[in-house]
Amino acid sequence: MLKTLRRIIQEVVAAPEFRSALDIMVKCVAEALNTEACSIFLLDRRHGEHVLLATSGLNPLAIGKVRVPVGQGLIGFVGEREEPLNVSDAPKHPRFLHVPEVGEESYHAFLGAPVIYHRQVLGVVIAQQHTPRRYDDAEEAFLVTLAAQLAAVIAHAEATGEVARLLDSHQVNQQPAEESYAGISGAPGVGIGTGVVVTFSADLASVPDRAPDDIESEIRLLETALAASQEEFRILGERIYEHLPSEERELFAAYQQLLDITDLGADIVAAIRQGNWAQGALRSVIDAHVARLESVDDDYLRERAADIRNLGHRVLAYLQKNERNLPEYSDNTILIGEELTAADLAEVPEGCLAGLVSVKGSGSSHVAILARAMGVPTVMGVSELNVQALADKTIIIDGFYGQVYVSPARELLEEFEQLAAAERDLSDSLESLRDQPAQTADGELIGLLVNTGLGLDVSLSLAAGAEGVGLYRTETPFLIRDRFPSGEEQRIMYRQLLASFAPRFVTMRTLDIGGDKLLPYFPVHEDNPFLGWRGIRVMLDHPDIFLTQVRAMLRASRGFNNLQIMLPMITDASEIDEALRLINKAYAEVCEDMPDIVMPAMGVMIEVPAAVYQARIIARRVNFLSVGSNDLTQYLLAVDRNNARVAGLFDPLHPAVLRAILQVVEAGHQEGRHVSICGEMAGDPVAAVLLVAMGFDSLSMSASSLTRIKWVLRHFTRQQASQLLNEVLAMESPVMIRCHMELALEAAGLEKLVRAGRR
Ligand code: PEP
Ligand code: MG
Repeated sequence: MLKTLRRIIQEVVAAPEFRSALDIMVKCVAEALNTEACSIFLLDRRHGEHVLLATSGLNPLAIGKVRVPVGQGLIGFVGEREEPLNVSDAPKHPRFLHVPEVGEESYHAFLGAPVIYHRQVLGVVIAQQHTPRRYDDAEEAFLVTLAAQLAAVIAHAEATGEVARLLDSHQVNQQPAEESYAGISGAPGVGIGTGVVVTFSADLASVPDRAPDDIESEIRLLETALAASQEEFRILGERIYEHLPSEERELFAAYQQLLDITDLGADIVAAIRQGNWAQGALRSVIDAHVARLESVDDDYLRERAADIRNLGHRVLAYLQKNERNLPEYSDNTILIGEELTAADLAEVPEGCLAGLVSVKGSGSSHVAILARAMGVPTVMGVSELNVQALADKTIIIDGFYGQVYVSPARELLEEFEQLAAAERDLSDSLESLRDQPAQTADGELIGLLVNTGLGLDVSLSLAAGAEGVGLYRTETPFLIRDRFPSGEEQRIMYRQLLASFAPRFVTMRTLDIGGDKLLPYFPVHEDNPFLGWRGIRVMLDHPDIFLTQVRAMLRASRGFNNLQIMLPMITDASEIDEALRLINKAYAEVCEDMPDIVMPAMGVMIEVPAAVYQARIIARRVNFLSVGSNDLTQYLLAVDRNNARVAGLFDPLHPAVLRAILQVVEAGHQEGRHVSICGEMAGDPVAAVLLVAMGFDSLSMSASSLTRIKWVLRHFTRQQASQLLNEVLAMESPVMIRCHMELALEAAGLEKLVRAGRR
């Protein structure tokens, strides 16, 4: 029996999609029980119905069409009792409901088992047979055990939205309960409120070119409009200032600077002098800037185009002397726009913003960065949205999964209200943990570090109790410039970061360009950039850039002595030897005029499979190792980390990835080295428990994950974590591993954390 069960689960988990997993399930169960029909009904909570989604034996045309209201019929009865039901002659049962479409008239024997996950009924599995009889105890036990195992699979499919999609695919002929739109998560969280649409009456695109009557008066008009826009940004910046981390506070000052008569303003004046009126000159300069930014192969810079367009609209409104009619904000405003910007967000009165939805943009848009910093749930890139139709509608934003629901049904609204309340509870409980140490339930301390790029999160990281910076991605400040920053510019930048964390250490990674991180001013065209000129390979070919950066880091560390240097994309020991030779050279040079500079600890990122197998050789050459699980997963599983089409295959919980990572920790420790991990998985509650069990000395993650992970780790002893690691290492599928770990987190009382963001 156990063997059959295991085989069925394996087949189900290996199914390419959820729909076929259900088909396999019913077919295998019918065979295993030697019964004539087996079917699965899943609960559609939005409509309060059990929907037939797979059958072997009943009328296949009834799939998706037969919907049994909750509490009705034998299906409803099983769901309601939350217990199996075994009857020899179903039609005689008082709760029997005759549904003509399914063709079950001739079936008599009925065995039903509820599918329950974390005390919630997800559906019902039934077996039927023509001859009246009671299924025996072994058969009943089989179906109940199978239903319990399937619960995890179905719960996972619910969490990833596959159940909703499958239910929706059967909704074609019915009036949908609400409109739902898919976008990209911009900031996590659930937001519920009323739609408020942002529009501009001034339309830059429709401004024609026209010869000016008087060039000087056009320039004066422009200067007045620029000054008024600058003043607007100054006020908005002040209003939002206290809610922002330090780096983002610069944003509104940067807008003002851009509008200066010596900056963008100078280009517009030049265009006026060349014979265009102020409005036409503004349009042509903004268009040129936008086109330049949009042609760049870098997400961050492309997203800046939206900011420039927004500046253009605002200046145009002043040129046209249009009073901008601000929308009427509601107490729970869900701000919606074609291309929302930070300035639109800043205009919403304090305490009234419940969420943001933007048709254009992505997670790297300024407005999304700001929303994350302010904790406002946000969905970006909702391309199918008809913005104007959403004004005054009730809207739910699921910022975890990037979904927007318009005019939701009562059940859905209630469900999200509960989720939002659970999220609030969770944040409250986490708040009290900020000053507590990061340790396991039996008191073993774990180093929690932060990953940073723009230095946005310094205050947030320190407040959450980060013990240092495990990864500073130095390429980020290089990406937002239009040339390589000079050594001195770099020194100032690095020193600021080192100063704000001192005496805590800061691990600076040497420039990791290439792959998806291309500098607009250092173009490289390759067919296979992720397998091409990346990270250390570029640096060793350009010792000038590398030495400038290392010297800047060393100089910046003077007096703080809290610098660590880390090398990315190492595949070969000789790369480390060469990099260390250059770093020693830079050190000797810097020491000539600053002899008190301390040589920093050196580390290597393990993010390429080749490095996994040479971890001991690598560890002997440096002071620490840090696993880059993002790239390691990409390279081990041969899955592009940025390709949405294969995103479902990118899973750091894949058994191959877990084994590789374990091997690195063991190798590092055999050489007596500190081993850390700085990929996204360190901030995943489910993975963090396993990483601690593997023996990582520290975990490095984004600032927003710190307290959650601290909370999780305090619920497990090392022995419990090790037991879980042993269990998952015996499993074959990432889905089962995740389900297993989620169950463990729930059993440890962390159900709020597992459930947060999942419907
Ligand atoms: C990684 O690859 O896991 C990593 C931390 O580096 P990045 O995401 O910057 O490539
Ligand atoms: Mg990497």
